[in-house]
Amino acid sequence: MSTHPVTFFSPGENADEVERTNLLDLDREGLRAFFVELGEKPFRAEQVMKWVYHYGVTDFDEMTNISRPLRERLSEIAEIRAPQVLNCQDSADGTRKWLFAIGGGNSIECVFIPDEDRNTLCISTQVGCALDCSFCATARAGFNRNLTVSEIVGQIWMANRSLLRDHPQGERGVSNVVLMGMGEPLLNMKAVVPALKLMIDDMAFALSKRHVTVSTSGVVPKMDRLHEAVDVSLAVSLHAPNDTLRDELVPLNKSHPLDELMAACWRWLADGNRKKHIMFEYVMLDGVNDRPEHAHELVSLLGNMPAKVNLIPFNPFEGSGYRRSSEEAIQRFAKILRDRGVFAIARRTRGDDIDAACGQLAGEVEDRSKRWRKFAEPRFGERA
Ligand code: SAH
Repeated sequence: MSTHPVTFFSPGENADEVERTNLLDLDREGLRAFFVELGEKPFRAEQVMKWVYHYGVTDFDEMTNISRPLRERLSEIAEIRAPQVLNCQDSADGTRKWLFAIGGGNSIECVFIPDEDRNTLCISTQVGCALDCSFCATARAGFNRNLTVSEIVGQIWMANRSLLRDHPQGERGVSNVVLMGMGEPLLNMKAVVPALKLMIDDMAFALSKRHVTVSTSGVVPKMDRLHEAVDVSLAVSLHAPNDTLRDELVPLNKSHPLDELMAACWRWLADGNRKKHIMFEYVMLDGVNDRPEHAHELVSLLGNMPAKVNLIPFNPFEGSGYRRSSEEAIQRFAKILRDRGVFAIARRTRGDDIDAACGQLAGEVEDRSKRWRKFAEPRFGERA
């Protein structure tokens, strides 16, 4: 593991007090409207996007296919500003974690996970999280606010820039994005939807929609809205095969219990034949949700749904009160699923030496949810 000082900074950090439009806040449609408002042709949007997303250019002066007067105008009223990188850590396994400052004493984290066939970036969508999943470090940090579009896509933009710097041939750029960092994406639809549109837009990040995955704890009404708004892949953080246990692990289940959640999953899959399957995440907690009877219950719950189950070994953090399931328990669980025709993988833990693994992202959150009061009390579901 290594920590290295960051030698470049987000553009625009010294911007003067003038309130400028940050073009990273606008998806293609928004950018076209922005140029029309300026009395320009809408295709200026595509021209600028190409500079910003394909070439990483932030200085309007370098955008040579745009007229000088428009460039000057843009320099006065607009900017291209990603969140500022505070720190960057490399894990022994190649995982890299960035810490971004986003103002007000808050910071967020995002993690790059290189693999043989893909380069995945796990990004945050909120500063902290308002949901209260009992096994998640982000929940402990509390909640401050939603991220903006530029703060969400800025994570990818900065990661690409930094990776390109280390690998000038560009072969190590981000190929997959998962919204599995800090926060609940579906509780920030206003920014997440335009950000997703930018991820799959050929003029922006140009990622395949199969390679962009939104993960949700099960905000059922927003699941329907998401698939009306944008076509990307879906992951559901399930973690328990029955309501009693899920109420304890994912308290959102009390508002949207499993029958509602599974019905929303079926609706998602029924929307044409574009979506092949849903990914279900299941954190493996020793003695809590990892017994054979849980696996059998999970098989019944999923029925014939096109699904992949991702078994995630629990990543401990201080005071969590949980232990990771043994390797044998995980393999036994996976075998029960597989023997009954359910596709299951046991995810390898990556980046845990730099606290970059699933559920370990905490950043710095100026908590406005008064979560600490709750954790001062003995917790519901606390285990020795
Ligand atoms: N709120 C969304 C997005 C965050 S995804 C959601 O819950 O889906 C973060 C993923 O990591 C979720 O599947 C979450 O359940 C899992 N996770 C959280 N804490 C973890 C921990 N300590 N160990 C392993 N996985 C964890």
